[in-house]
Amino acid sequence: MHPLLILIIAFVLLEFGVSSLLSWLNGKWMTHPIPKVLEGLYDEEKYQKQQAYMRANKRVGWIERCVSLAITLAVLIPGVLGWLDDLTAQWTHSLLLQLLIFFAIYAVVSAIISLPFSYYDTFIIEQKFGFNKTTHLTFWLDTLKSLLLTLVLGGMLLSVIFILYSYLGPSFWIWATLVCAAFIIFFSLFYSNLIVPLFNKQKPLEEGELRTAIENASHEMGFSIKNIYVINGSKHSTKANAYFTGFGMKKRVVLYDTLIEQLTTEEIVAVLAHELGHNKHRDTIKTMIMSIVMVAVNLFVFSLLADNPELSHALGGTRDHSFALSLVAFSLLFSPIDLVIEPIINGVSRRCEYAADAFAKKYDHSEHLISGLKKLSANTLSNLTPHPAVVWMDYSHPTLAQRITALMKNV
Ligand SMILES: [Zn+2]
Repeated sequence: MHPLLILIIAFVLLEFGVSSLLSWLNGKWMTHPIPKVLEGLYDEEKYQKQQAYMRANKRVGWIERCVSLAITLAVLIPGVLGWLDDLTAQWTHSLLLQLLIFFAIYAVVSAIISLPFSYYDTFIIEQKFGFNKTTHLTFWLDTLKSLLLTLVLGGMLLSVIFILYSYLGPSFWIWATLVCAAFIIFFSLFYSNLIVPLFNKQKPLEEGELRTAIENASHEMGFSIKNIYVINGSKHSTKANAYFTGFGMKKRVVLYDTLIEQLTTEEIVAVLAHELGHNKHRDTIKTMIMSIVMVAVNLFVFSLLADNPELSHALGGTRDHSFALSLVAFSLLFSPIDLVIEPIINGVSRRCEYAADAFAKKYDHSEHLISGLKKLSANTLSNLTPHPAVVWMDYSHPTLAQRITALMKNV
């Protein structure tokens, strides 16, 4: 076996080990006593339901991880990717087309593999616990649209990066970073106009008590928010949410219709105050800069390795240069970096969440934010006692208990 392939397999096993360990730890903490600040959130019956929901998710998570590991090894060890790369070379002489065909097959096969799991999650687990609102037609249409989006947008980006690589050699990463940055900025601005309408309907929040309350409160906090939209989250699930998107003229606050259904006006205003905190602290722009830096680092390291024939050989390629195989080998070799980067990104994100909560608190919304967050958590049967290691590694938001404790400090 190629030494690089042994390394790649070791990394695949490492990731499997870490995610299994985290899931096991979380399972161990499931029955931990509920934090004092959250006592009474679930009655006995609802608590039993929550525990059953967690167990069901944990079981599927295990199966999915094991299946995905088995498939990855079955593809890597006999060199299936190398075989696929050779096959695309027989179909066309254009290197760009070879690359696009390779990744199209890769994306379609990956989508097919994950399909039974998302189907089971939506129509068995979420259905059983009363969350699912997705019809079968919506499910299949959404799956198809996501795949097409991946193929079109991924194909476009990949083509540009490959053309830059072909003409510029190793220094392509600088221009490729600029192209990716433009791509990220463009979709940050137009996400609500271009992507969201493919899956959901949005309409401006109607005039009335809620809109007036929101406008008055945002005025008090120093904002004049005009772009308040309601999205039909109820098309997919009963779970509720709100988010802030875009920047500059394209700023927009989006409330799920399920949020409006489940929370009182004061609680919605408090959730909005939290979102305005993100806006005040320019969190959208910070996140965008962070992703651009990550892309730059990845492309730079890839530029150092892209011409190395060993990357292709490791995956069973017979040609010395295959951009597709180099890219896959590179992403597998650098996947352990995620184990370091992810906790850092999540740590930064959790700090932003605390800061946004503190902003809402500063304008006297903490009491309603607490009751709103409690309701949302109870309605989604969320885990009140995640293991600290899981929070550290995977949580983009502090736990409910942590948020409430911070909000109650010096109230
Ligand atoms: Zn937030």
